Amino acid sequence: MFQQQTIQNQSIDLPLGKVVCVGRNYADHAKELGNEVPDAPILFIKPSTSVVALEAGFTIPSDQGRVHHEAEIALLISKQTKNISADQSWASISHVGLALDLTLRDVQSKLKDKSHPWEIAKGFDGACPLSKWIPQEKIINRHSIAIQLGKNGELKQNGNSTQMITSIPDLVAYMSNIFTLMPGDVILTGTPAGVGPLEKGDELVGMLDDQFRFESAVL
Ligand code: ZN
Repeated sequence: MFQQQTIQNQSIDLPLGKVVCVGRNYADHAKELGNEVPDAPILFIKPSTSVVALEAGFTIPSDQGRVHHEAEIALLISKQTKNISADQSWASISHVGLALDLTLRDVQSKLKDKSHPWEIAKGFDGACPLSKWIPQEKIINRHSIAIQLGKNGELKQNGNSTQMITSIPDLVAYMSNIFTLMPGDVILTGTPAGVGPLEKGDELVGMLDDQFRFESAVL
């Protein structure tokens, strides 16, 4: 039996699986952290235990340095997907949402200096606040999905999937050639520029596709 995926009191009949993520998928964001733009997608995985409901508000670690928000377009995989081509990608995606790829930035910097993997900085419990899911048919134009994040009334991140270095179809195809994607897996597609630190009490507003609004807060 699969455990039902229940996020935001919204029940979707899929297990909550792994969260497959990509780093530096927007050139402006790579630049703001002083990173080179990669020549192939940089993939990493957050465990299912990192997922929490965005709109319920969330807590962040208080004793491990800066915790950065990375607002990202999230995709819900609805069928087993392996070795697909880009033109088959959207057939595997049932829903779209907004996720925060929370990152312990100071911890990550130290890991990077030592060429160690990033999991400690990105895979901790609560590291993936995730909005309720929007059926992909409700997205106005899936080739141009806007994403914004505001913090305490100020717009911090403002991007569009058209700015991705690896597009959503190419990214899902690439991932499926490395990891078998299972129903209930989640894909995070990278963050646009404007990442920054979160603090307890911050009020957040996420916008997806200029029509779906999600309110959240750091508790
Ligand atoms: Zn990210």
